[in-house]
Formats: sequence, C-alpha cells, structure tokens
Amino acid sequence: MWRIRRTLRMMSQGVPSPLVYRAYRHGERIAIVDPRGTYSYKDLLDSSSLVASKLLENGEDLSESRIAFSIPPGFPWAAVQWGVWRAGGVAVPLPLNAPSRELEYLVDDCGASTLIYDVHTTPIMASIAKARGIHALSCDQLFSSRSAESRKMQKEITADRRAMILYTSGTTSLPKGVVTTHANIAAQIGSLVEAWEWSSDDRVLLCLPLHHVHGIVNVVACALWTGASCFMLPRFDATAVWQCIADGAVNLLMAVPTVYAKLIAVWEAASRERQAQLSLACTKLRLMVSGSAALPVSTLQRWKEISGHTLLERYGMTEIGMALSNPLHGERVPGTVGRPLPGVEVRLMGESGTPVAAGQAGEIEVRGPGVFLEYWGKANVTSAAFRDGWFHTGDTAIVENGLYRILGRTSIDILKTGGHKVSALEIEEALREHPAIAECAVVGIPDEEWGERVAAALVLKSRDSLDLSSLRNWARNSLATHKLPSRLVVLDALPRNAVGKVIKSSLVPLFQNAGANDSVP
Ligand code: AMP
Repeated sequence: MWRIRRTLRMMSQGVPSPLVYRAYRHGERIAIVDPRGTYSYKDLLDSSSLVASKLLENGEDLSESRIAFSIPPGFPWAAVQWGVWRAGGVAVPLPLNAPSRELEYLVDDCGASTLIYDVHTTPIMASIAKARGIHALSCDQLFSSRSAESRKMQKEITADRRAMILYTSGTTSLPKGVVTTHANIAAQIGSLVEAWEWSSDDRVLLCLPLHHVHGIVNVVACALWTGASCFMLPRFDATAVWQCIADGAVNLLMAVPTVYAKLIAVWEAASRERQAQLSLACTKLRLMVSGSAALPVSTLQRWKEISGHTLLERYGMTEIGMALSNPLHGERVPGTVGRPLPGVEVRLMGESGTPVAAGQAGEIEVRGPGVFLEYWGKANVTSAAFRDGWFHTGDTAIVENGLYRILGRTSIDILKTGGHKVSALEIEEALREHPAIAECAVVGIPDEEWGERVAAALVLKSRDSLDLSSLRNWARNSLATHKLPSRLVVLDALPRNAVGKVIKSSLVPLFQNAGANDSVP
C-alpha cells in the first residue's frame, strides 16, 4: 500500500505524462513484442513523442480533447495511447470489428476531436470521420511522417487530469463512457503490481481485446509500469496462445474464462506427446489469472489437471479496476474471488442502505483511489452511482469464511422467484455438472404467478440430448426445488461479447415464444 501512496504523491507533484515518465528508466529493455517486431521502452518513448507532436501540431496541450482510436493490439496501439497522454489528451480506445452504428455512437458520445485508425480499420473509421468533419489520421501518417518532428515532451500533466474513457459493454442500456484520471489508472496499476508481485523480469501475454479494462490495465499498463515485456497477439487465437506458452516466451497469462475453455479444447484435441509438451511448458509460468466473468469450477479444475495451475480468480469492473482477488501466495478457493486488493475498500450493503449482517448477501460497494471519476457527459448517472464516496457496483456478493463469492449482477443474475432470491450463477454452476451440458446461462423470465421463472439456455455436448423433465430430475440432488429451471432452450452457442461474457439480455426473448422451448407449468 505504501507504494501506491508514494506513486500518487509523486504524481500529484506534476510530472510530464505521469503514466509514461517511468519508462525513461527502462530504456533499452523490451517493452512490446508483436508480430511485426520487438520494441524497447526507448522505441515506445520515441514513437509516442512523435504521435504527441503530430496531435499537438503547434499547440502546447490537447487540454483533454478526446482522441478515439481503432487499432489492433500491437506496438502502434501502445504508442498512440501514450502519445495521447503525453499531449494532454484523453485516450478513447474503440472496439475492433464493432458495427458502424456502435462506433458512431461512441465517437459522438465522447465528442472525439480526432480519430486514429490503421489499415485494418481504415474504411469504416475514415467514413465516420468524414461524415462528421472530424480530423482523421492513419497510423502510417503518424509514424512515418517526416513532417512531424518529435519534440521533447516537457508538458506537465497532473495526475488529476482525465486520461481515458472506456465504454461499458452496454448489454442492458446504451454504453456509458467511464472516465478515469491518470491517478485512477496509476492506483489500479499499483494495487495489482503489489498484489501479484509484478517485476521487470515478467513477460506477459496479451490475448485480450484492447478496448476493455482487463487487457488495457491488468496486462498492458501493469507490464509497462514495471518495465516488464508484453507479448501482444493482434487477436485471440488459442493455437497461437499455446505456441507462446510452449516457446517459453511468457511467464504470466491473464485471460477470461472462455479463453481458458478454448485453450482446454485445443489441448484436448492435441496428440498425447503435444499435450505433455504443453503441460510441461505451463509449469514454467509463475501466474495465470482469470476474471471479467465467473470462472466455472469445472474449468478451474480441468485447467489445473492440464497446467498444474490453480487459476487466480479476481473480480473487478471498468469503473473500479480490480477490487477483489484470490491470493498470489496461499490457498485459492474455487468459486470465490478472495479479498480486497491493496488500496481498495469493499463493503456489502443491504437494500435498506446499511451494511448487511455477516453471512448475508448484499450489493458490493467500492471506495478507493482507483475508482473512476465520472460517466462522460452523464452527471446525474454519475451521482446516482455513488453514496458517500462509495461506488455501487450493481453486483451482489456474499462473504463466506472471509472470502467474497460473487452471486452476479443484481439486475440480471439475482432472480426473484416465488418469494425467493436466487443466484443465476449458483444455478449455472450446478447445471454445468450435468454430463450432457457443455455451457449454460440462466436468466429470469417475467411470470405473473412466480414473479420470475428460472430459465436455462443450454449448449449440449455433441450428440447429446436433454429435456427439461430429465434435467429437473437430475438437478434435484443439488438444487432446491425453487431453483430448478422451469424453462429450457437448447442453443448451438451462447451469445457472448468481445470478452466472452454471455449477453443475457438477448437470451430472454428466446423464452418468450412458448412454442420454441421446453417448459413446465
Ligand atoms: P466489465 O466492466 O466489462 O469488466 O464488467 C464487470 C462485471 O463483470 C462486474 O460488474 C461483474 O458483474 C462481472 N465480473 C467481473 N469479474 C467477475 C468474476 N470473477 N466473477 C463473476 N463476475 C465477474
């Protein structure tokens, strides 16, 4: 914790680009490896200086103008993010492959003054910029331009200035722009660096998208803060991830549960000899982390058999960075997300607005220097999200033996059926034990009699079949009667977003057509 305080104290004194200046001490160390090459911290400083010069033109400070960019993971992405910071702008990383309407919404919502794109995203970004008369720059222009002379960045960017806007996934409402300051990001990084003992010898693999807090903060920012190396894949590819592990290129892996599920599938399809090689290579890593969605215990167990690692599960969100984590050293209890991280205060609150009694479920509230500043342009939504400086996460949890267990999003995963409150995540965990079920998601369907009915969307293992009454009979051993699904639909795949979260709002309509699925009265 003292390290976080010291960092924040230094930053409040005002240094040129606080999230960047530490790189001067890492000089020729390798910062980023991507399919195009290997880049040192000096390269990153030089290229980001070029980007900043180009963005500033003859000005001194972007004064928090929003610079939106759509660039695949790789060195240019990081150089642009740092360039925006060094020029005093707010970095707005956009999702790749998003439909044009979604990108237009994000660009308009943040009021971007400049759009930056690379060859992969040129057509869509160029046309969005043109339609709005926004300044547009390609990576080629930024990095190869001779006219943009790199100047030494002396500008003082104090830590309380806005640094980044990340958009929430918007599965229940329109995406909101989560604004973090340089100090917020530094605090989020400092907490993880301390808890997971990051060092400059670390080599982390990035296989996550770079428009989401997980890849941006937990992987890239933590690595670049500590002088570690980040191996960036332009997109997730399970075989490429395995190859990186097999080559001994990395010693840290951070991913979401669906990534681990896909890695398991590739391992299972490999020859015995290859399986043995891959499993041996895993033992060389020092840490493997899972988060951003509940980690099925079955995935944790299978991954342990394959890799020898008990995945470290953590909990966080865009607005707060990471809040809860299993320990780096010591027992990691499956199904739990451990305890508060350094510098993060967490409490569970009841509906009456007071802390819940021990052992009772409540809403997670978080306070600390890593908690975001505001939702962009939404002052009322921001103030409604805070109570006395505590941020309401909208997630429900319970503490068991001092360890937090996430029960799910209060609005989606906490079902009210027949007067009982039940956790969709708990039911999903139980259903996944069924030998025919590959994946499942539980939602509540509005019902006049029950309030909500428990409805399960299943993906079955190949060639298996399952009907509702046999599922209910089987599940009686592990679930109380009111938790048994009374509606069932079998799908080829669950709808998921870019970080593998199930988009539950799009499941609900599937149950509304009574003829389309299995149900009991
Ligand atoms: P995002 O802001 O996209 O990172 O989403 C944050 C949300 O993901 C949280 O509010 C939780 O609902 C969920 N989440 C994150 N980590 C976990 C976890 N380990 N277990 C269950 N849910 C999680």
